Amino acid sequence: MKNEVVKQPRVCRFCNAEVHHTFVDLGMSPLCESFLRPDQLNEMEAFYPLHVFVCEKCFLVQLEEFVSPDHIFTDYAYFSSYSDSWLEHCRRYTDQMRDRFRLDGKSLVVELASNDGYLLQYFVQKNIPVLGIEPAANVAKVAAEKKVPTLVKFFGEQLAAELASEGKQADLLVGNNVLAQVPDLCDFVAGMKVLLKPGGVLTLEFPHLLKLMEGNQFDTIYHEHFSYFSFLTANRILGAHGLVLFDVEELPTHGGSLRIFGRHREDDSKPIGPRVVELSAREEAVGLNRLESYRSFAEKVKKTKRQLLECLIGAKQAQKSIVGYGAPGKGNTLLNYCGIGTDFIDYTVDRNPFKHGRFTPGTHIPICAPDRIFETRPDYVLILPWNLKNEIMQQMARIREWGGKFIVPIPEATIAG
Ligand SMILES: [Zn+2]
Repeated sequence: MKNEVVKQPRVCRFCNAEVHHTFVDLGMSPLCESFLRPDQLNEMEAFYPLHVFVCEKCFLVQLEEFVSPDHIFTDYAYFSSYSDSWLEHCRRYTDQMRDRFRLDGKSLVVELASNDGYLLQYFVQKNIPVLGIEPAANVAKVAAEKKVPTLVKFFGEQLAAELASEGKQADLLVGNNVLAQVPDLCDFVAGMKVLLKPGGVLTLEFPHLLKLMEGNQFDTIYHEHFSYFSFLTANRILGAHGLVLFDVEELPTHGGSLRIFGRHREDDSKPIGPRVVELSAREEAVGLNRLESYRSFAEKVKKTKRQLLECLIGAKQAQKSIVGYGAPGKGNTLLNYCGIGTDFIDYTVDRNPFKHGRFTPGTHIPICAPDRIFETRPDYVLILPWNLKNEIMQQMARIREWGGKFIVPIPEATIAG
C-alpha cells in the first residue's frame, strides 16, 4: 500500500468550517518578536508562511497556527509601558470604567494578558483590587514590582473555573490586544464567560479589521496574531458563548481599534446601545458579511509595497541616508514582505532597552537607542510604528535642524517634513 501524505483540511478557528479563501499572502516570514543577538546572526532562522485566509461561513480572518504560544512567549520582548500615548490611553480608560461601572475597593478587575502591569497599575492607584494573568514570566515579574499581582499562566476555561471556585470572579474583565493572539479562541471566550461575575462587564480591545482593510494595514498581520476581527464576527463569537455586546467604541489606537463591551446574556440591566446597531449596519453596508469584499485586499497590499519601495529607492539613488524608528512586531512584517534590509536602512532605534544591540528578524537591521539618530543625522527616518507617528514626530522634531524628514509607510508611503 502506498504511504500517502494526507493533507488535513484547513478549518476555521471559530466555526470549524473548511477554509479555502485567501485574504492576503505575505510570503514567508520569521516570527516578528524573535530579535537576534549578534551571536545568532549566522544561524539559520525559521521562516513560516504568513498566508491569511478568510472563512466563508463566519468571515473570521485568520492565520494558521505554526508555532506554539509557548515558543512565542518564552522570551517576550514586548513591554507595553514604552509608549507614552498608550499609557495615557490606559489611564483614561481606568477613570471611565470606574465612573461608568461604579468600581470601588470591593470590586475585582481582572486583565487577561496583563503584560508588565501597564494598565492595572492605574486601578491599583485607585485602590481597586486587581489580578493580572500573563503567560510571559519576564514581563509578569516587572508587573509584580509595580504591585500588580500577576498569575503566570495561560488563560482558558480551566483556569477560569479554578479562579471562580476560589470566589474570584471579575466585575470588570479586560483583554487588550489579546483576542487576536489566542490560538484556542473558543476555549478563551468560554473562560471569559466563566470568570465574569453575573453583573460584570468585559471589555476587549483589538485592531478593527475594517480599518486594517481601509488603511492597507497589512503590516499588523504577523504569526502571533492568529485572528482579525470585524465587529460582526466578534459579536457572533461572543454570542456563541452566551455573552452579549451592549456597547462599542471606536478608538484611534493601533491604526483603529474597537473597544467592545460585553455582559452575560442573562443580565438585562445593560440594554444594547445605539452604537452597536450603527456599527453593525455600517459593516454590513461595506460588505463585511460578503466574501467578495475580502477578495480585493491582496491587490491593494501589493500596490502599497511598490509605492514604499519606489520611495526608498528614490532616496537611495539621490545618495540619502535612511534609518528606521521603532522595532515593533509590525515593522518586521513590513520589512520582510517588502524586502527592506540594511541595503536601505542603516539601523533602527527603539525606546525599549531590551531590544538594543539586537537585530531585526530576517532583515538583520541593528537596533540602537533613539539618541543614535542625533549622532548620525540621517536624511530620512522611516517610522515603523506608524500608528504612533504623531508622538514620534514630536519626540524626534530635532531632526528638522539638519533637514531630516520622516517617511510614513502606511497607508501609502508619504514623506513628512
Ligand atoms: Zn468560520
